[in-house]
Amino acid sequence: MNSEAGIISDPVTIIGAGIAGAACARVLRDADVPFRIVDRGRAPGGRMSSPELHGRRVDLGAGYFTVRDQEFATVVADWESGGLARQWANTFGILKPETVPCTTTGPVRWATPNGLRSLVRNMLDGFDIEHSTELTDLPDGHVVVAMPDPQATRLTAVPDAVDYDPVIAVACGFDGLDIPFRDAAFVNDHPDIDFVVDDGARRGDGAPVLVVHTTSGRAQQHLDNPDGAIAPVLDALRELSVVSADPAWTHAHRWTFAKPAAQHDSNFELQHRDGRFVGLAGDQWCESGVPRVESAWRSGTDVGRELVRRLSH
Ligand SMILES: Cc1cc2nc3c(=O)[nH]c(=O)nc-3n(C[C@H](O)[C@H](O)[C@H](O)COP(=O)(O)OP(=O)(O)OC[C@H]3O[C@@H](n4cnc5c(N)ncnc54)[C@H](O)[C@@H]3O)c2cc1C
Repeated sequence: MNSEAGIISDPVTIIGAGIAGAACARVLRDADVPFRIVDRGRAPGGRMSSPELHGRRVDLGAGYFTVRDQEFATVVADWESGGLARQWANTFGILKPETVPCTTTGPVRWATPNGLRSLVRNMLDGFDIEHSTELTDLPDGHVVVAMPDPQATRLTAVPDAVDYDPVIAVACGFDGLDIPFRDAAFVNDHPDIDFVVDDGARRGDGAPVLVVHTTSGRAQQHLDNPDGAIAPVLDALRELSVVSADPAWTHAHRWTFAKPAAQHDSNFELQHRDGRFVGLAGDQWCESGVPRVESAWRSGTDVGRELVRRLSH
């Protein structure tokens, strides 16, 4: 392929195998642009993380996804027909200290029987991912950096980089559950937790497992030792009458860069520097203003398309 930056001899390097990097890879594949994809993790998915805990997968990062983007809807329809994703719920509980629980209805939330990571695995099926490869500099050639700005700035300049808020996700396995909401609940006005999900309902296997997301304030206090968040999370669950029994097991996961505190007002950045292209993508590149799984997909798709367009001229 001839390009603005010369004939492509080396593959484009996509750094980050989250959903933004995976969406970019699909676009390059469809345009026959050679690429490699590297990730510092041992598995793809990034914040769509579903490790196996006590014999089953648990979604420890993104809890679900929504489908407002029309083109993303066609991708999701394929996942649904392949049994990879299903419509889960549109009504969640609301818990608030010293208040009777109520509910709120919003958009349909989608979940997966095998964990959200399975969707990214599906997108990257057939591609060789260079796992456990943490880059500390930009490699030669064209590059797409698909990750949160605080991580991207370790590799390259990011204009007006946005900060991210941390979350510690605590998974708790019980012998049985009798909870005051269906599916999941937002927690309002609590200093320590802001979301509780019935992971068995979400995954559809009925397992008595809750996943709790801390507030960013509580997470900040435990970034050096995420297990320190477990006791305040359990205290919060008891205070809100979600559970009274002790869990059989717990597991804490730190997300230092969980959610963007602000967004860029475009879906990606593609710079032409020193004879090569450097693309920036991820959920923070979000002109819709609502960063999440579907906006990360949109960002990776759009940066891939623009790169293909510029390489073709
Ligand atoms: C606790 C939590 C709850 C959430 N809840 C929701 C929700 O309910 N709904 C929703 O839609 N979204 C939710 N999100 C947000 C959602 O997970 C993200 O918007 C989406 O997954 C972002 O994808 P991404 O590809 O932009 O980034 P990421 O998934 O972060 O991917 C970036 C990848 O880059 C890799 N990487 C970073 N630095 C390097 C390096 N130097 N070298 C190599 N690889 C590197 C990382 O390992 C990672 O795999 C949640 C996130 C968290 C953490």
